[in-house]
This record gives sequence, C-alpha cells and structure tokens, in this order.
Amino acid sequence: MSEAQTNRVLAPEGSTAARPVVDLEQGLSGQTDDIFSLRPSGATTPIQVRNVLVADDDDLIRKILARWLTRAGYNVREAANGTEALQMVREEPPDIVITDWEMPGVEGPQLCHEIRQLRLQHYVYLLILTSRNEPKWVVEGLESGADDFLSKPIREAELVARLRAAARILEGERKLQQLARTDPLTGLLSQRSFYEILYYEFHQARRTKRPLSCVMLDLDFFKRINDVYGHPVGDVVLKVAAETLLRSCRQSDVVARYGGEEFCVLLPETTEEQAVNWAERFRATLRAAEIDVADKKLTVTCSIGVSGLYEDTLTPEQLVDQADQALLCAKRTGRDRVVTYQTVNQNVEFNLDDPHRRHDLFEGILAEHVMTPIVAPLQGDETVEHVAAYFLRSRISSAPVVNENGQLVGIVSEKDLMEAITSSEGWNRPISELMRPHVITYPADTPVRVIYEFLCRVAMRRVIITDQGVPVGAVSRASLLRWFRNLVLSERARANGQQPATDKTAEDIIQDALNQIARERDKMERKLAEKPADLPAYLVGAASRLQELAVDILAFASAVQNPFGEQFGCGASSVID
Ligand code: GH3
Ligand code: MG
Ligand code: MG
Ligand code: MG
Repeated sequence: MSEAQTNRVLAPEGSTAARPVVDLEQGLSGQTDDIFSLRPSGATTPIQVRNVLVADDDDLIRKILARWLTRAGYNVREAANGTEALQMVREEPPDIVITDWEMPGVEGPQLCHEIRQLRLQHYVYLLILTSRNEPKWVVEGLESGADDFLSKPIREAELVARLRAAARILEGERKLQQLARTDPLTGLLSQRSFYEILYYEFHQARRTKRPLSCVMLDLDFFKRINDVYGHPVGDVVLKVAAETLLRSCRQSDVVARYGGEEFCVLLPETTEEQAVNWAERFRATLRAAEIDVADKKLTVTCSIGVSGLYEDTLTPEQLVDQADQALLCAKRTGRDRVVTYQTVNQNVEFNLDDPHRRHDLFEGILAEHVMTPIVAPLQGDETVEHVAAYFLRSRISSAPVVNENGQLVGIVSEKDLMEAITSSEGWNRPISELMRPHVITYPADTPVRVIYEFLCRVAMRRVIITDQGVPVGAVSRASLLRWFRNLVLSERARANGQQPATDKTAEDIIQDALNQIARERDKMERKLAEKPADLPAYLVGAASRLQELAVDILAFASAVQNPFGEQFGCGASSVID
C-alpha cells in the first residue's frame, strides 16, 4: 500500500486529530480517528455526528449559524472563505460542512467539488446555503457534490432538522463502512483494516523508536473440529476464540481475523518479551476455555508466533512475516505453544521436551516409522468386481485410490463396495465413482504424536501417509498400538538380554497370542468359580484382552500365508484399518 493510501485513513502529521485517549474501563474517549474507533471491535463503537464546519464570508451570518449549532449540541468551527474551509477539511475532516454559495475566491459549489476530490477517512456531508432557488442552480450545486440545499432566509428549526437528517445518513454510511472493515463472523477487524493500522503503527514505532510486536495465532487442528462436529460448531469455536482474544487485549491493541482460523494481533508499546508473556497467558486462557456446543464441551488450543520490531525489520509486511515464521515453527514443533521470531532467527534448537514430554515414547518417531506401507494403491478405473476380489484376497477393508501420476485422489472401503453391489451393473462400475474424495492425510515426516493425538480425538480409525501427494502408507489405531506394544516388548527383551522381539516371525507372534489366550481362559474359569465381588469388572477387562489378542492373530494371519509377509516391526500386511 502506498504512502498516499496510508494517509487516506489517517490524520496527516501535525493535525489536531490526536490519537484517542485510551481508558481501559471506558474504552475510547476524546477525538477519535475513524480507524481507531474500530478498535478492537468496530461493531460495537457508537457513531457520533457532531463536528460541523461553517464556511461563510459574512461574519454576522457565520456567528448566528454558529450560535444556533452550538445550542443544538454541535462542535462548530468557522471558515471565512472557501480556501480556508478546504484547508480545515483537509487537516481534520468534520462530519458536516455548511457552506455559503457566494464567497470571494473559492465559491460554495467549487468548495464541494474540491472536498469530493480529497481522500478522507470518512464521508463528509455537504450542505449549501443559497438564495438561488431556480432548478438550474440546484442542479449545478448537486452536480458539484453537495448533498442538500437550504434556501435563505434560514430558520433555526429547519437548519437543525436538516442536520438531524444528515446525521441519519452519515450514521448509515459509517455503519456500512465499519461492516466492510470488520469480519462478519467474529466482529474483529478484517485483514485489510489490520494492514491499514499496521502501516501507521509500524512507521510510528520506527520513527519514535518505540517497541511494537506482532502476534500470529492459529487454532490447532481446527479443520478436524469442522470435520467431526460440522461447520456451524467450527463457527462457534471461532467466535469463542475471538471473544477470548478481545477480552485478553488492551483497547489499544489491534485484533484482526487474518483468515480462516488465523488471527493477528498488533501490540503497540510492547516488546517481544512482553508479547510472549501476553501470548502465553492467552494460550493458557484459551486452552482452559470450555466451549459449549451440541451438548458437548469442546476445548481448543492454538499455536502462536511472536515477533518484535528488529533493527532490520524494514517493512510492516516483514514484521507480519516474522511472526508467521515463528508460528510455523510452533506448528512444526508440536503445536499448542508460543515461539518467538528470535528463536527461529537464531536457529536455536527448540526445547521440545518440557517436563511432561520428557518420557514421551513418541519422541523422534515419525509417521513413516510406524505406518503400514501401501504396496499397491488402486486406480480409479478399476471395477468394483476387481477391487472386491482384491480386498477379499488380501483381507484389507479399504485402500487409497490414485490417479495416473500416483497422486492420492480418494479412498475406497468395503462399505463403499457394499453400496455399489445393490444392482448387478454396480459390479462393473469404476471405483472412481464411489470412492470418497476426502482423505485425512499426513506427510511421511509428521511426528507420530500428531497422528496419535488426532486418532485419540476423532472417530476416524486411520490416516493415510503421503509423500508429495503419493500415498505411501497408513497409520491406524491398530498400527499405533502394535508399534507401541512392539516397543515395550523389544525393550523388555533387551533388558532381559534376549533377542529383540522385532525378530519374531508372524508364527511366533500368533503362538504368543495363543499362549496368552490360554492363560486368560484358565484365569477366567477360576474367577467364574470363585465369583469374587469384582467379577463383572474383571470379565470386561479379560474379554477386552482376548479381543485384542484375536485382533493380533487376525493381523498376523496374512503374514503367515504370504511368504513376503512383514515382520512384527511395521505391521503384518497392507491392512490399513
Ligand atoms: P493446524 O493445527 O495445522 O493449523 O491444522 P488446522 O486443521 O487448524 O488447519 P487447516 O489449515 O488444515 O484447516 C483450517 C480449517 O479452517 C479449514 C477450513 O475449512 C476452516 N475454516 C476456515 N474458515 C472457517 C470458518 O469461517 N468457519 C469454519 N467453521 N471453518 C473455517
Ligand atoms: Mg456570501
Ligand atoms: Mg489451524
Ligand atoms: Mg490456518
């Protein structure tokens, strides 16, 4: 945005339109710039029309008009000619200009025309006083940009009534402007308005060498809130996040919805260190908030990037970009955290292992380590018949579908096939017609903790792992559990000086499972005979263990049949759910 555009919305330097006085309790007071009156939420700022400029070369008429207007509650400024009036409008635009038609130098219509050429921060209502009542003069006046005429002789009551009508029009106009500047869902500033203020604050901070910080904030896993609970619930979560932000901010902070589920906050007079403290407080507040939706209490976390103004931060865009880079690192390093640009900039290793994470078993483990590889994805033109045969043969219940470039385009499951075979023609349909195109995917280098958290949170049982859009594997709840158990077993084996469990064959695993089933069975018989008080709880636990053991045997069954079957380490087959 150019310097000229910046000035359009801000009082030029040296003007009397001061920065508003900020009172934390009362909100804004004093002379308000339109742009500042939007902080932090324009939707609630009352609009007042009260500044009037009277331009007339006749001192007496000017004085009388000023007295009437003051009596009606307006702030009045006076100009003795058109040139003076134009200068005053430029410096501090009033809400309304009342101008005489005939004046030496710049006349009323000319003044109106000149004012309409100015790029002012708000619309100025123009009223011409004249004794020229013939239609051609009326046309000329209106064409010059005036909004209304008042014929001489002027009566006080009529003047005041006309100004009230003007106020109604101005209020409507400004409400529209505010709507354009705010995001309709959250009432926060739009990204565009954010940049308008950012330009001003940035240059102000650079000039005065005062601190300024920018905070970029993105809700974590928000897409899944939409996916699991639906868009309207997502909207409620966004509103709650916005309200929480507003409550956490000072009146002088600039809070905007940057896009989607991303927010941007500009903190004037705030160093990066202070901004981090603020961000940490906000993060804790948001994560503690219980959001009531659809008979449930949802919670949401956010990742935050913070950047202060550095010597070499040369443009407002750069400041935002620095915060954005920090945000990206917050995301990449596990979300639900605050990262500063300083850490990113100095390439410092992030200390991910906070006390709670130190014994995180998933630490350093990526999706590709845990996933079950996908050997042969399906092509969209394969028929239901063909795919059904493939599923039956390989005992899988779903598989990804790729295009001719190997890129993932959908997923097809047994359930989809079932729906297709209600008619005989269905048997010959290509699976591209029945696959589901929306697949939850993660890149192969995603920390497996991210996928673990996802699978813990949603009803979905598996995600597809991709490498540049090509499906290379699947991580399901079963693969995570299997991986975890494998880890525990191999560690135990290592501790006992035995061979690591990863060397076991599928047959060994199945034999282990059978032995455990036998032990569970014996124990269950004993318990049934004893009838202890906790029998129901015991039975549920034991039955669950038997169920898991049966699932393990199923998983390894295909590896036994298949001479190329995989070892325990990465799952038994291309079973992906
Ligand atoms: P991450 O933790 O990496 O940020 O994951 P995420 O799911 O939050 O991010 P992603 O960018 O994948 O998804 C953002 C989602 O936000 C996708 C989009 O559908 C949703 N979204 C954007 N605007 C709105 C909105 O106005 N209302 C709702 N309900 N959802 C929105
Ligand atoms: Mg005159
Ligand atoms: Mg997000
Ligand atoms: Mg986002």
